[in-house]
Amino acid sequence: MIPIEIHKKIKDLREELNQANHEYYLKENSSLTDFEYDKKFKELLTLENEYPDSIVEESPTQRIGSNPAIEFNTVEHNIPMLSLSNVFDLNELKDWISKTSKTAAKDIFPLVCELKIDGLAVSVKFQNNLLNQASTRGNGTIGEDITNNVKTIRSIPLKINDSKNIEARGEIYFPISKFNQYNESREFEGLNSYSNPRNASSGSVRQLDPNETSKRPINIFFYNLFDDQGKEMVNSHYKSLEILENLGLRIEKNSKQVHNFEDLENYILFWSKNRAKLDYGTDGIVIKIDDINIQKNLGTTGRNPKWATSYKFPPEIVETKLNKINFNVGRTGVLTPWAELEPVIINGVKISRATLHNRDEIERKDIRENDLVELQRAGEVIPQIIKVSNKNLRNNESKKFEFPDFCPDPCNSKLLADQNEVSVRCINSSCPNKFERLLQYFSSKKCMDIEGLGSKICSILYKEGFINTLDEIYSLEQKRKQLMELEGFGELSVNKLLVNIEDSKNRSFNNLLTAFGIEGVGEEIADLISEKIKSLDILYEKKKNLHNLENLLINIEGIGPIVSNKIIEWLKQEGNIFLIENFINLGIGTQNINVINQSNSLNNKTFVITGRFEDYNRSTLENMIKSNGGKVINRVSSKTDYLLQGENPGTKLSEAINNSIAIISLSDFLHMISKKGRNFS
Ligand SMILES: [Zn+2]
Repeated sequence: MIPIEIHKKIKDLREELNQANHEYYLKENSSLTDFEYDKKFKELLTLENEYPDSIVEESPTQRIGSNPAIEFNTVEHNIPMLSLSNVFDLNELKDWISKTSKTAAKDIFPLVCELKIDGLAVSVKFQNNLLNQASTRGNGTIGEDITNNVKTIRSIPLKINDSKNIEARGEIYFPISKFNQYNESREFEGLNSYSNPRNASSGSVRQLDPNETSKRPINIFFYNLFDDQGKEMVNSHYKSLEILENLGLRIEKNSKQVHNFEDLENYILFWSKNRAKLDYGTDGIVIKIDDINIQKNLGTTGRNPKWATSYKFPPEIVETKLNKINFNVGRTGVLTPWAELEPVIINGVKISRATLHNRDEIERKDIRENDLVELQRAGEVIPQIIKVSNKNLRNNESKKFEFPDFCPDPCNSKLLADQNEVSVRCINSSCPNKFERLLQYFSSKKCMDIEGLGSKICSILYKEGFINTLDEIYSLEQKRKQLMELEGFGELSVNKLLVNIEDSKNRSFNNLLTAFGIEGVGEEIADLISEKIKSLDILYEKKKNLHNLENLLINIEGIGPIVSNKIIEWLKQEGNIFLIENFINLGIGTQNINVINQSNSLNNKTFVITGRFEDYNRSTLENMIKSNGGKVINRVSSKTDYLLQGENPGTKLSEAINNSIAIISLSDFLHMISKKGRNFS
């Protein structure tokens, strides 16, 4: 039984959060700040956990938490989701209107114009007020069940104020403003980037794990409304848009009812010029007959309705001079060529650079510096060079572009072509061209998880010359004073950073292996490898016979010859060998902590370590404590159980005496764990 006041509290929170969602996504302002929203959301979640009977389907907490699917179930559409015929200019549009009027035997105006959103068409069904099914268009007749994914889109209400069963159709899209940033984060994670927002929206919706979908900033516009028999609910399409909006289903606000061709033409011309200002891609205008009776009489032809068509915007192609071909070096060392262009305006946006993708692309199109090239924006976002212009004139100095053999200044390492020869990479792990990104990656959560060493700090430390190789992170302690002199680095923040860096020395070998940023070696592969090769020093030993090592790697299930080869190539680089040696000397990655908690003999006791120990370095001792169920902290406090004392103890010893903390020697410690637990000797 839920106490009545709790019941009311839960209901209030639910309504408040749903209202905020509605305001935020439909009206673009909200009565709650993000902070307040998150706080109330957590409050609701806690109460619902305590009183599971109180959970209802429309609770905002139910948007997430569904388990990943193994595959998508299929859904058959009540009425097919049709595709539209196209017209490519105003004359073709005029023809379409006169032909359709003739078939209908009457004037087909008013027409409704809608921007054609570049995304993924979906159907969303509501039953007894609740969202109960969502599916993709699929082949038009059968789509995929994406209900749990669609529920994560916060602009879609889980509950509507109409008990009639309805089906709303719309387009899920990926906002352009979020697209570039999102792609950058994917590249950072070593994932492929999306080539345009449409692919990004479809890729986001078609995730087997709804939690992944919930992280994507996708949104939706609805444009069709039916009852559960697949019938329109009013006789005017334009009216149905109004009903959708009243139901709380988001519509694109620039739709317009036009009564003659002149208005239609003006609408088209206006949006041809102004579409670049929208935050969603649109590749044309949908023109529909407003009167549903006329629609019904006209019917469909094969896959297309006869009562609608889509006007396609011509892609804007401009010409400009390509001044120079430059290179970006990504985190994993892949060289991506890009073109420095004479600035030019496309779709209202000034463009001065364009990607050239890879070596093949340049060769295939024979693109050279100083060429006049044709340019367009793919999916309204990414400037792309289509080809060398027909008007291009080359003089004697024009040379076929040679892809470099060496990484650009100041790295100059020999580049390595992948086996498929498409990508070319620099595998020097201290390569200055990729180092800043690698450093960020190294300190990120799934790698060494160094809090406080984010992208901004990485950039400063690299640019100011504090860190030039990954192991130099661990010598920052010696530059403490200089660090504090940097702008924005106070004593407190430097102390915190250094403590976190010190703490990261305890990460296990699989974390370190991931953190090296070897192409193809992400978290999962690193885990597989570290099951067979338990620590960095063992890897170092094994690399003395690369042939055997490669065989060992290939024979690990889940690792193929390509990844094995990349690891071997990485190990052939002198700079990387130095790196490994330095990490071994630092005692990082030299113990595999995957085996922790096999004994609990230290039973959550807290240790502080001080002084030097002849046969054990600091991180080995820390691992021994952790693997037997104890904890290690850096400072003595009343919560400390033991001070492990070595030679030349520091001030921690007197602090321990003052706090009456038990002080133990190394042999005491070994005795403690050898009796009950395990050690590493
Ligand atoms: Zn390089």
